[in-house]
Formats: sequence, C-alpha cells, structure tokens
Amino acid sequence: MYAPDDVTVSPEFPIPDQMKAWVLGGPEELIKTTKPVPVPKKAEVLVRIDAIAVCATDLEIIRRGPPAQIEGGAPFNKNFTPGHEYMGTVVALGAGVDEYRIGDRVTVEIHAGCGQCKRCREGMYTACHNYGLNYGKLDKGHRANGFTTDGGFCEYQVNHINTLIPVADSMSDEEATLVVTAGTSMYGLTELGGLIAGESVVICGPGPIGLLGVAVAKALGAHPVILTGTRDNRLNLGLELGADAVVNISRENAVEAVKRINGGKGVDYVVECSGAPQAANDALYMVNRGGKICLAAFPHDLVPMDIAHIVRNNIYLYGIRGEGKSATHRAEAFMRQKRFDATKIHTHTFSLDDLPEALRYARDRVEDAIKVVVKTRLAEPAE
Ligand SMILES: [Zn+2]
Ligand SMILES: [Zn+2]
Repeated sequence: MYAPDDVTVSPEFPIPDQMKAWVLGGPEELIKTTKPVPVPKKAEVLVRIDAIAVCATDLEIIRRGPPAQIEGGAPFNKNFTPGHEYMGTVVALGAGVDEYRIGDRVTVEIHAGCGQCKRCREGMYTACHNYGLNYGKLDKGHRANGFTTDGGFCEYQVNHINTLIPVADSMSDEEATLVVTAGTSMYGLTELGGLIAGESVVICGPGPIGLLGVAVAKALGAHPVILTGTRDNRLNLGLELGADAVVNISRENAVEAVKRINGGKGVDYVVECSGAPQAANDALYMVNRGGKICLAAFPHDLVPMDIAHIVRNNIYLYGIRGEGKSATHRAEAFMRQKRFDATKIHTHTFSLDDLPEALRYARDRVEDAIKVVVKTRLAEPAE
C-alpha cells in the first residue's frame, strides 16, 4: 500500500500504489496505462481526482503541443498526462501541511508559480518566469498541472496548497470543475479594473470562458453586458446567464450593433474570448476612449491591428494567462452563493475509460457539447 515517508495518510482513504492514467503519445494519440501514484512534497497534497472537465486548451495541447511544455519542449512521447480542470478529495498530506485535512473536497487552479521569481513575488504566478522549469538540475518547483507537470486525466495528482480551493458541499462535482473556468473569466475582469459595477462590458465569443464571463460581469454589477457570437443557441445561453443583450455577428455588424445597444457609444470594457482574427480589431472599435480590452483567447496567426486607433484613443490592452490573482476563490464564492448557475454550460459526462469519446464530443461539439466532464468513479453508486 501507498505509505511514503513524510506523507500523512488515513485508513479512511486507502491509496493504491498504482493508478489508471492516460498519457500523450504523438499528436492526437492518447494511451491508457498505469503510473505510480505520485507523492506530495512539502506544502503539497495528494488529490484523489473525482471529476475533470475537458478544456479547449487540452484539445490544443493534444493536437499541437503548446502551451504545454515538458522538459523544455513539446509534450509528445514523454509519458505526460494532460488535463487541468479537475476537482476531488484530499487523501494525503505532504510534510508540514496543516491548511487542509484528509477528506476535504477541493477544486484546483492550474498554476503554482515557483514562488521566488519577480512575477510570483508580485502575485502574478500565472506569468511565472520559471514556467516549465520543474525538472532535472533546473528544478525551480514550478507546477502547472496538465501543462508543465502531469495533469488530471488519471486517478490521483499532487497539488501545491496554493492551487487548492475548498468547495461548498452544495456544489456538485461537475459544477466544481467549472470554478477554474469562472476564475479565468474573473481574472480578466480583475485585470480590467475589478470594480465594474454600472460599467458597460462586451464579451466576444460564447465559449465557456465567454459565457461565464457574462455571468461574472453581471454578478459584479456591470451594465449593460453584451455578448457577441455566431451561434444562436450559445447566445441564448448567454441571455440565461445574465447578458442584457446579444449580437449575432453573422447577421449584424458587431461594432455598429454594440454602439446601437449602448446609446451610440462604445463600451468601457471588452473581453475578447473568441480568438477570431477580426475580433481584436472589432474590440478596438467597440471600446470607448480610454477604455480597456482584455485578450483572453489566442488566434493561431498574426493579426494586423489598428495601432493608430489605440494610441489616439488611449486604449489599454491586456493579455491574460489563466486564472491569476486567486480569482478562482472569488469565482467559487459567487458560485457558492448561487449568484449564477455555471452548470448551464455543463452538457455531457463520461467515465475516465471513455476519455477519447469525451474529447471527441468536446472537439466536434457533438450534440452541442459545451463543457464535457469526465468522472473517475462514474460506475460507483452514489454515497
Ligand atoms: Zn482550461
Ligand atoms: Zn515564479
């Protein structure tokens, strides 16, 4: 049985030595295998993974590699387990951990910065200067599970205590996997100014981050919140999550529609979550003078931008990476208070054995899939 030195375990949660895990072979190649259950070090815990959501970034990593980075390069054929939006139960404590107890339900955020670089010291741990330096002689202790260290498409994973968020009992496992998505939306709005009560916001792109961006912006008191996109079913979901207006940009000019809805003026903030090539310039023309734009999605190609318009109008541009500034904790607090219903974006559930099918549903949007959740113990009866 699992009983490493300097690790606290409990008979209530017996831990095997080996676990089921999926690893990435070549591009688009996932292999089911077994791995040793990992061992938490100082300030880390072992999480038994109960549920994990599939993210568009997982699909990107599995197909192309970046933004995952293993041993200084692409993540292929390195016994790497992807997956990062998971929740579960604390089942073992590394040395010195008294912040959490065995049996605690937690969800996780991705980035545990090194804690020693300039950015980590500023609280910007998602922009850690030692990103990916967690191996060999260069081990700086950085972790970004599913990106630079093993992730959650398996049964157990090690997490730094800084990446844990306690989950309310009222929240289902499936809902708890969405905290990091809502936390990413929250981080975007935090970087744009934080207090957006009464200010106008456009969210471009009704993917999971965009849809929960609508919900978080409304919960923060923004008005109006306008959602743009091309699929009516997704835009209608945006209305259910609190959007004051939606614009289908395949039928209407996005910039003109936003100005019409907002009294002829551009809005104070734009959060660009679509990654569409045209979206960044649209955002420039949608925002008012002195307004702020958050870029939360990445286009694959270089995008020409109207720099003169940015300069003449004193527009601020922010790129965000992940779920920084502990935004996940604030997102969980909103969800705990039922300020919005994130479960509206959860559409499908699969077992861990069916991961390839779950990924196919997410990638091809089978049956209008939005958030697909994989449960490690789906077959077990409810307790
Ligand atoms: Zn993600
Ligand atoms: Zn750092």
